[in-house]
Amino acid sequence: MRDIQHFIAGSAVDGTSGRFGDVYDPNTGEVQAKVALASEADLDRAVKAALTAQPIWAATNPQRRARVMFEFKRLVEARMDELAALLSSEHGKVIADSRGDIQRGLEVIEFACGIPHALKGEYTEGAGPGIDVYSMRQPLGVVAGITPFNFPAMIPMWMFGIAIAVGNAFILKPSEKDPSVPVRLGELFMEAGGPAGVLNVVHGDKVAVDAILHHPAIKAVSFVGSSDIAQYVYATGAANGKRVQAMGGAKNHGIILPDADLDQAIKDIMGAAYGSAGERCMALPVVVPVGAKAAGEVRKRLLAEIETLKVGVSSDPSAQYGPVVSAAHKKKIEDYIQLGKDEGAELVVDGRGFKLQGYENGFFVGPTLFDQVKPEMTTYKEEIFGPVLQIVRADSFEEALSYPTKHAYGNGVAIFTRNGRAAREFASRVDVGMVGVNVPIPVPVAYHTFGGWKRSAFGDTNQHGMEGVKFYTKVKTVTARWPEGGEADSSFVIPTMK
Ligand code: NAD
Repeated sequence: MRDIQHFIAGSAVDGTSGRFGDVYDPNTGEVQAKVALASEADLDRAVKAALTAQPIWAATNPQRRARVMFEFKRLVEARMDELAALLSSEHGKVIADSRGDIQRGLEVIEFACGIPHALKGEYTEGAGPGIDVYSMRQPLGVVAGITPFNFPAMIPMWMFGIAIAVGNAFILKPSEKDPSVPVRLGELFMEAGGPAGVLNVVHGDKVAVDAILHHPAIKAVSFVGSSDIAQYVYATGAANGKRVQAMGGAKNHGIILPDADLDQAIKDIMGAAYGSAGERCMALPVVVPVGAKAAGEVRKRLLAEIETLKVGVSSDPSAQYGPVVSAAHKKKIEDYIQLGKDEGAELVVDGRGFKLQGYENGFFVGPTLFDQVKPEMTTYKEEIFGPVLQIVRADSFEEALSYPTKHAYGNGVAIFTRNGRAAREFASRVDVGMVGVNVPIPVPVAYHTFGGWKRSAFGDTNQHGMEGVKFYTKVKTVTARWPEGGEADSSFVIPTMK
């Protein structure tokens, strides 16, 4: 059986806890590897390596740091096939989707290649007599990222791409469910010329997370995962004086106005609801058709599309989605389907009991469709994170707008319409952080910024773009005076600009 070790100071390192997690192949349901689960001492070892490496890395000029990022990007691209296959084998998403996962991460690395420009400070000449003021962005030191299972390449790169480019050393605590790609990224960073100790990968569970949250040398923590844990990480990290950004769960709505291009909207909703088995924080698990006519048409067309949807193993190029990540997650999704039925929603297509020939023990869930879902239902309020699409019918634009606005989560939302004015008004008024107009999965490009609202994010800076640069740096402002001479004088009054 393959052992997955920590990656500390540039080497594979055994843990000291004696604890291991099972890494499954979700296609077969078999354990394919054991991953070390860190003790506090293992985490401390990584922090020490990072503390040693960081000052030298920070003193390396930004252009040289960017060159390492360029080379890292080249190496990841060259290994794309190997990395995508490895990612799919542990996560269960199809290969094309794994490539997308890696590619979206690389786009943040591309942004990080331009870090010298992003780090330029501000300067005011002559703020007073002989006085100039300038500001600079300096790295925080050692920072950490804690990532979820569903994007094991993209989300680590969102974080370490920028954190490292600005001069920090990074400790990545990836999901213990699919830890291999994060380790490969660490190795490739070294191969690209990154110094040992600048990017460390420490595997683990709550023990490792708590060790990060309590370690005095870790200055900032970025977290992405489910909302309750995001809130815990935010509160605990902040109580320990750290800068924290913590992204949580989601329940994104796709609003379909009666004038929408339905051919396109239905294709978009299908991909966004069922792609990656619904295990995306920007998935669209709720569709809100406006008006009875649109609702009937949407339901009919979705049914027809579901009939031709192909679920298969993650290596099958003709499959649209693969298994979910674990047996426990499969059970959770199936329990939600039962609950939806019990609380009175109409179960139009039931994906439970789906079996793929030859892979009977795989963690597969068939596409599921509910109609007549109501906002008071638990299955509407909570995140299911599986291939389950819920139709919530609305009679008007205002009613449709109220659903995502009143929902506890506020990550993403999409509106499908040909009416620019309606789309504009929707985008302006909806209480959600990322909005798509005829775009089903509005994950912003790397040089913009990613972040939800309400229970979808705790903390006030987003991932990547200039917000990422801001999160991983602190600003120092220098006020410098070079007087011409004359008599020295003391002033006991706060200096002002007259
Ligand atoms: P998760 O919350 O179970 O795990 C996330 C991380 O927290 C992992 O590294 C895990 O090891 C750690 N963790 C798990 N239990 C913990 C505990 N009790 N204490 C401390 N740490 C703990 O999330 P997941 O199942 O890996 O990922 C899916 C969730 O992530 C979904 O809710 C999804 O919406 C969310 N997500 C959000 C975004 C976003 O940007 N908002 C992006 C991707 C995923």
